[in-house]
Amino acid sequence: MKIYNTLTRQKEEFIPLDPKEIKMYVCGPTVYNYIHIGNARPYIIFDTVRRYFEYKGYKVNYVQNFTDVDDKIIKRANEENTTAIEIVEKYIAETLKDADGLNIKRAVVHPRVTQEMPAIISMIQTLMDKGFAYEVNGTVYFDIQAYRDYGKLSHKNQEDLEAGARIEINEDKKHPMDFVLWKPKKPGEPSWESPWGDGRPGWHIECSAMAKKYLGDTIDIHAGGEDLIFPHHENEIAQSEAANGKPFARYWMHNGFINVDNKKMSKSKGNFFTLREVAQEFPYEVIRFFMLSAHYRSPINFSRELLQAAQNGLERIKNAVINLDHIVNHSATEEMTEEEIQLSGELEVFVKKFEEAMEDDFNTADAVSVIFELVRFANTHINGNSSKAFTSVVKKKIIELSNILGLLEKQENDLLDEEIEKLIQERQEARKAKNWALADQIRDALKEKGIILEDTPQGVRWKRL
Ligand code: AMP
Ligand code: ZN
Repeated sequence: MKIYNTLTRQKEEFIPLDPKEIKMYVCGPTVYNYIHIGNARPYIIFDTVRRYFEYKGYKVNYVQNFTDVDDKIIKRANEENTTAIEIVEKYIAETLKDADGLNIKRAVVHPRVTQEMPAIISMIQTLMDKGFAYEVNGTVYFDIQAYRDYGKLSHKNQEDLEAGARIEINEDKKHPMDFVLWKPKKPGEPSWESPWGDGRPGWHIECSAMAKKYLGDTIDIHAGGEDLIFPHHENEIAQSEAANGKPFARYWMHNGFINVDNKKMSKSKGNFFTLREVAQEFPYEVIRFFMLSAHYRSPINFSRELLQAAQNGLERIKNAVINLDHIVNHSATEEMTEEEIQLSGELEVFVKKFEEAMEDDFNTADAVSVIFELVRFANTHINGNSSKAFTSVVKKKIIELSNILGLLEKQENDLLDEEIEKLIQERQEARKAKNWALADQIRDALKEKGIILEDTPQGVRWKRL
């Protein structure tokens, strides 16, 4: 499998540290507002990356933080005449609601800055002890000149850094690009005790501290939108590698922007659409499909026309599944014909092409095209006279490939055979335990989905109505 690594600026063979488990950290949002459609991109993309790894049999230890203390949160709380905690609780809940709509799996851990102070303070202390940080009047700075590799992710050299530094008068800093690890308390702001006085952490240190705590010193993949490359991820590398004395993340993945009129959609520019408002016009699943229809590193221009096109495309796939389902339920032929047996052998070619696309730096655009090809294959080779068996395997393949991308999972009235078997087994167990109520409940639930059970001396048989 190949992944484009921002660190080396090339596609590299992906080799995880542990052959069974992947350690993945994705920077999460600062929670002071509904997320916009640009923020939704990394959510969808890296969830899809995770799902693909899981499909390949890896366990994915996926960590995504919530930044729950920040100037913007405090400002918002003041504007709304409420507390930072209320703002944070509200928008974490809203963000998770959006994520559920998009069928994003929950991270294994969603650490929050305010709950990780000991880990954060301990890492800053290590940086002080090792001479990578210095304190001036209660503010602790990272000393970029003490860390030789500073700039390696964003490929900036010392001159770029000097030129890039805003002309700001801050005589406390040794270098204009030195960044804050800890800042002193201001009146009316939340604060925590620390060896450098009461205050709160700078933004970058939280991810270094949380990645270390939940995943260890060296992780496989670190990801986020490309605006995070500099300074956020550059600073994370500096902090983690200086403190731990080990390489931090082995592969750095960054998604391209969602633009509006070729400008990055952002809260500060005001040119944004919240995911919530777009989801009122287009189902969440269409938004997910829209994002996956482009390569994750390419910019996407946001427009209603493109969303409409995505909706039409997704409907084409869904309609194919509904038609196939109908044939499975109504065809008079059970078994595959010789010709169908041969054709079903071709299904593996689609799977292979799909996997090749995904393993070429997660080319979801090509993977989606393979699903369309499979739909065309179904439309060409299946009609009302096709066998149930053949129609069913083709239908399942379309659903299976779509599911890897997090699509078509909520197809109603569409229990997969494995799911039915599992429910029947559960019912058998309930009966064995003389839990008749549960057994009847399962039978009724299956009936509602059009599945009829027959108890025979040979065991339970089922059929679709
Ligand atoms: P923020 O809350 O601004 O830190 O953003 C959360 C995530 O969304 C980060 O990974 C950002 O890189 C990403 N992001 C923000 N704006 C966009 C955009 N217009 N297009 C794609 N990703 C974005
Ligand atoms: Zn981060």
